[in-house]
Amino acid sequence: MVMMILMLMMSVLLLARTDDDFCYDEDHCDPYAWGDSYPSCHPLLDSHHSPINLDHHLMKNHSLDSLQLHGFNLTHKGQWWLTNQGHSVVLEVGDGMQVSGGGLPATYRTFQLHFHWGSVSSNGSEHTLDHLRFPMEMHIVNIKSTHPNLTSALEDPTGIAVLGVFVDVTYLHNENFQSISSALSYVAYKGQTKSIKPFPLVNLLPQNNLTQYYRYHGSLTTPPCSEVVLWTIYEVPVYISWAQFEQFVSGIYSTEEEAEIQALLHDNYRHIHPTYSRPVYASKDAKLLTNGVSSLACFNSVSVIVYLLLKI
Ligand SMILES: [Zn+2]
Repeated sequence: MVMMILMLMMSVLLLARTDDDFCYDEDHCDPYAWGDSYPSCHPLLDSHHSPINLDHHLMKNHSLDSLQLHGFNLTHKGQWWLTNQGHSVVLEVGDGMQVSGGGLPATYRTFQLHFHWGSVSSNGSEHTLDHLRFPMEMHIVNIKSTHPNLTSALEDPTGIAVLGVFVDVTYLHNENFQSISSALSYVAYKGQTKSIKPFPLVNLLPQNNLTQYYRYHGSLTTPPCSEVVLWTIYEVPVYISWAQFEQFVSGIYSTEEEAEIQALLHDNYRHIHPTYSRPVYASKDAKLLTNGVSSLACFNSVSVIVYLLLKI
């Protein structure tokens, strides 16, 4: 009995420690301080940390063709769960989807997706395209199928494959994000969860540009920052409306509903890390950034102007 109580106390302490040590907005626990509590978050020389800036030094890799997204076009049975974890909003998508091909060394099963965002006045994607930061970034997280769980995958240098999607903002409502948009108000506070009817996950991807992406070996962008991730960053963003964007930046809190002082969750992205000698590849069909970014940046500016006009 005493042993059980001790174990329970240790679990509670462990949970409390995790909560306290990881944040985005206070000096003692922001991304620059993560290494104090999680040594593997210290960006050492020649390490493989994420995110990175994707710039002109990309190497074209003609063997990088389209990824196989098994089950992404299906409407699965059961329920998915959207949860405010205090650091992001996470959608757990259950079984039935796998990712392979496109240069990945194995098949990976999809288990969750989540978002990183800025604020009403700042962009918040984790990766940048030629130093352009997008308003948001979505990460679809996949575990190598040979691993029974995340803990096991974190011991494997290629244990995780993440699909990263830039999210830009425009004046048009994106119906494909409606399932998530309509559930966000139910998960405003940390710890809150809402069920979502499954939908074809491919709807959240840049469906006409899936062969255009960048690939490199990096890390988790949240503690424990394990250097075990094969990143696929799609070159072309998806778009949501300003109203949908505002639901994230003005409606999601990093604190619990009962907290005396409420804190909006915003700018939940890690700073850019050097690539050092790491190769960063562009897929066979990726447009090289010299052409691509200028038009994207242009569109982004147009979005801001439209937004300002609508606000006036
Ligand atoms: Zn992420």
